[in-house]
Formats: sequence, structure tokens, C-alpha cells
Amino acid sequence: MLHRVHDYRHLITRWRAVARKAGLKLRHLARDDGFELFYLDTGDATPGLYLSAGIHGDEAAAPEALIQWAEHNAKNLSSWPLLIFPCLNPWGIRNNSRFDSKGRDLNRLFQGDSHPVVAAVRRVVKNRRFPVSLSMHEDYDAQGIYLYEVQRGKSRLGETLLAAARKSLPPDPRPSIDGRKADKGLIRRRFSPRVFEKIGYPEAIWLHLHHSEYTFTFETPSEAALDLRVKAHMAVVDECLRTVLNSPRI
Ligand SMILES: [Zn+2]
Repeated sequence: MLHRVHDYRHLITRWRAVARKAGLKLRHLARDDGFELFYLDTGDATPGLYLSAGIHGDEAAAPEALIQWAEHNAKNLSSWPLLIFPCLNPWGIRNNSRFDSKGRDLNRLFQGDSHPVVAAVRRVVKNRRFPVSLSMHEDYDAQGIYLYEVQRGKSRLGETLLAAARKSLPPDPRPSIDGRKADKGLIRRRFSPRVFEKIGYPEAIWLHLHHSEYTFTFETPSEAALDLRVKAHMAVVDECLRTVLNSPRI
């Protein structure tokens, strides 16, 4: 039996309740693999915070953290500039799979419109710019939390986000994570087009190239306790929002 965090319909019921409480409308994104997908947009044309979770269905703490964060902040949601994609791969969540029903990794398809869900996200985002974007993930090999920051200028935001999450879980101590140099859980690197032309564009690279000033991918270790993984994600979302609200021009 699958854990409740894999119950996509329950997740959407919760999002509907949050939207109602916030006086917002959950908008239809796409229909894929027999599931209806939704998003929440409070910012319209305002530069704000881009949040997405559930692109990999075996990383369930991410969509759970996003809904808990929204539930916790329902009263304030409409006053903050947010574009939220609560769960980009419902079939994967339902089936505890990284991939969609056709074996595709959505997070390698953001270079174009070949996948209906990715195409829908690209349509919603259009020409918008976000001071900060956050893609929420998990990793079953991880030995702690870690964060990818696509390098832009001399930002120290990565350290700030990790410090907030460290209250729940320790950083991954490995000097190399996924073949990339890491320092106390922070992987900050320049964008290398050659690499991604080969493997396909992750959401974060598409955001970095076209839509966001500071681009983060946060990962929790999926072997750790669920409530701690959720708390770590929520702390990072809080910190991203604080950054957006405090710095109109970062
Ligand atoms: Zn992932």
C-alpha cells in the first residue's frame, strides 16, 4: 500500500481547500496520464517566487512540503507574488516513480514542448521573470540535504538557504555529489550548455536561461524521516520568499 503522500487526489483536495481559504483559484494546467494538473498564480505579472514539486514521483516529501507550507500560510498567500506548480508528475507520485507512464524524465525535457506538461508550464510562464526560483527534489543516495545553485554573480543565497534547512537535517558531507564538487551540501556551478545539450534541459536550467535571476534545486535525503524532510523543504521555501519580499532588486 502506498503512503498517503502518494495520494495525488488527496493532495489536490488539500490544494483546493488552501486556495479557497486564500481567496484564490486553483487553475487548470494540463491533463496527462489520466490526471488533471493544476497551478496557483498569485503574482500575475509581478516578479515573484517560482516553486515546483513532484516532477519526480519517488520524491514525495517535496509536494507534501509545498502543500503543508501553503496550508500553514493560507491567509497570506494572496498577498505574496507566487507561481506554484504543486505536482508536475501525478502518475509518478501515484506509482512512486521518477518517470511518467511512458518512462520519460520530465526534468530532462525543458528544452522544448515535446511533453504536454512541460509545454503547459512553459506556456504559463511565457515571458515572466522571477527573482528566485526553487525546484523541490529528493535523492535516495543523499547522506543529508544539499542544494544546487546555478551561479550568477557573487550570490551567497545558497549558504542562507542551507542554513535555514540545517535546523531539520544535516548537510550532505560528501565532497562530490552526483559527480559534482560540493561544499557542505552546496553545489554552486556555472551553467554549461554542452552538458545539457547532451542530457536534456532540467527545469532549473530552463529557468536560469530564460526566467529566473537566482535558481535553486533543493534535495532532501529520502531515507530520512518524512517530517524532517518536509520541515527542511518548508524552511527553504520560507527563505526564498523572504529573499523575494525583502529585495525587489536582488
Ligand atoms: Zn528529483
